[in-house]
Amino acid sequence: MARNEVVLWSGGFDSTLILHDLITKGIIPFALTVTHINNLLINKEKESRDKLEKRLGEFDRKEYICGKATDTVADFTRDYWLTELFNYMPDNSNVYMGIHMLDVIGRKPVRKEFDDFIADFESKAQQKGINVKLELPLEHMYKDDILEKMWELGLFTDCWNCEGPQGLLPCGECMPCKRVGKWRSKHENRNSWI
Ligand SMILES: [Zn+2]
Repeated sequence: MARNEVVLWSGGFDSTLILHDLITKGIIPFALTVTHINNLLINKEKESRDKLEKRLGEFDRKEYICGKATDTVADFTRDYWLTELFNYMPDNSNVYMGIHMLDVIGRKPVRKEFDDFIADFESKAQQKGINVKLELPLEHMYKDDILEKMWELGLFTDCWNCEGPQGLLPCGECMPCKRVGKWRSKHENRNSWI
């Protein structure tokens, strides 16, 4: 039986690159988005995914909103996002997640958190009776390389990454905004030499 190719899709740079790469290989992936009801960016993120969907080629897509109004989004992410995912995950799936080098080496504790996550993922799925294999195709890439690729593919502008927008605009202050801003200015300087 063919396995399902499931991408955990936020609409950000990493998961969108994975989706793009699978489609380019002739695979029709299933993009799964599980968001918490209290996520303030819920509409903004969805808007990005809607735009990207039109540009990426053929894939299947499902979005679920879960959680209780009394949760914080951080509680959800830390305590039960992983479990919640398996309620929507088809059996026999390769599950793609956009973890990259910064996640592996740029956060503390350096390696343990990452290893725990991976160990938990497949075993938690098994407890739910679902067979999954976690795939981390960006594991050895740096964020700048990912941004570079997304720029070349023309998908950069449609991705949303700000964690705390001011109205409809990115804040420029949060970690993802700063990272993208730094890359963008480096990119623009380099192009001005040509
Ligand atoms: Zn921001």
